[in-house]
Amino acid sequence: AKQPLSKNDTIRLRKRHVGESCKLFFRSNPIKIVRAKGQYMYDEEGRKYLDCINNVAHVGHCDETVVEASARQMATLNTNNRFLHDNLVLCAKKLTSTFPESLSVCFFVNSGSEANDLALRIARAYTHNEDVICLEDAYHGHLSSIIDISPYKYRKLDKFPKKDWVHIAPLPYVYRGKHRDVETAGEKYAQEVDKLIAEATENGRRIAAFISESLPSCAGQIMLPENYLKNVYRSVRAAGGVCIADEVQTGFGRVGKHWWAFQLQDVVPDIVTIGKPMGNGHPVSAVITTNEIAQSLLSIGMEYFNTFGGNPVSCAAALAVIEVVERDKLMEHADQVGTYLLEELNKLKERYPLIGDVRGIGLFIGIELVTDRASRTPAAPQAQHIITRFKEEKILVSADGVDRNVLKLKPPMVFSFEDAKHFLTILDEILSEIEDLESDLEEVSVTATINTNSSQRIAAVN
Ligand code: PMP
Repeated sequence: AKQPLSKNDTIRLRKRHVGESCKLFFRSNPIKIVRAKGQYMYDEEGRKYLDCINNVAHVGHCDETVVEASARQMATLNTNNRFLHDNLVLCAKKLTSTFPESLSVCFFVNSGSEANDLALRIARAYTHNEDVICLEDAYHGHLSSIIDISPYKYRKLDKFPKKDWVHIAPLPYVYRGKHRDVETAGEKYAQEVDKLIAEATENGRRIAAFISESLPSCAGQIMLPENYLKNVYRSVRAAGGVCIADEVQTGFGRVGKHWWAFQLQDVVPDIVTIGKPMGNGHPVSAVITTNEIAQSLLSIGMEYFNTFGGNPVSCAAALAVIEVVERDKLMEHADQVGTYLLEELNKLKERYPLIGDVRGIGLFIGIELVTDRASRTPAAPQAQHIITRFKEEKILVSADGVDRNVLKLKPPMVFSFEDAKHFLTILDEILSEIEDLESDLEEVSVTATINTNSSQRIAAVN
């Protein structure tokens, strides 16, 4: 269909009227997407892209069941949650049925940032403490309260000092972090949190919460070492704090074997925050907690109201997403396709030294690129180059981690075996091109060539 604006006009108007700190993906030659279906996106010329990025379009872009349920509700009624409505309670019932029994109460909000902000308020109301422990390179959202616990965004800025109430624990990053022995990493990284708690307590501070993603994503698709959360949760609770699991990226069955990634660590958080995939693109998020903790917000006398949170349309969309995940057995599918991808990526790792580490579970995968396997030096320009080459091949992939050297796969859950095979074939081709380039040129000029090719930094997708 004809678009209201030419691509150049879209770019021109965006430059004039949209804040420049909202970065575009592929800044030098951005893509204008006009429609999408399943795991594919289409630009204004009708070119089809395989989407390996959009974990938001969880059950597939423009899924019919979700679209129909939301459109039907939009045409019937949409209003705030101060009126009784069946969608709200049915959504809360269905959603909490996917959690361990104690997590039975929901607060509906409109974004992951809002969910994390509310989680902090609840944690503070419950514990009467203020301080928060987060992980190095974590990202939890863009609100003023939440950016303070998102070192991913500020760690390289001089003018953004860490607040006194924030304590940053080392990222439990077995491949490139401070403790690299798989056997002991869980305990060692948890002891780092113990140290932080001890220091904070000595300085008269009190811990309200520990917050972490169950698989840190922006930090570089990190798999938490075994027993990490078990140990940390025990220490945080002993210090009077509660444990928050941010499942905004990792939830809703993405990891295949479980609905929620914290289940991989065999723990039950006190508060869970969810978002992104929840409405398959419709803005709906939530905080899930225990009845006792939820009561604490009430007990401080603070009423909670959110104009859009839990409106009938959002709840219709969220309910439909859960139903489609179940009906189409998307968790089993993610498990199978993810396992295949990981196996094949590990084979590529055998052949290409640029791949330092392959990790992940289900359809949450990271491919860490290094220039040298011994030093594990991040290969950021190579990652950017690969993403640019993927774009030429009509495959959308992003890179993340603080050094932007981890290729990230978080496609819609309908990503098929054929898509996986296609992705792997192209990756193989690109890696072999890079090797050819390397054998033709000196190492320094390889990086220079790649730097020029990848035109400019590609914005992170978080
Ligand atoms: N938590 C995590 C782990 C996220 O990745 C994000 C968004 N990238 C957020 C919270 C914030 O969500 P939103 O952008 O919906 O506010």
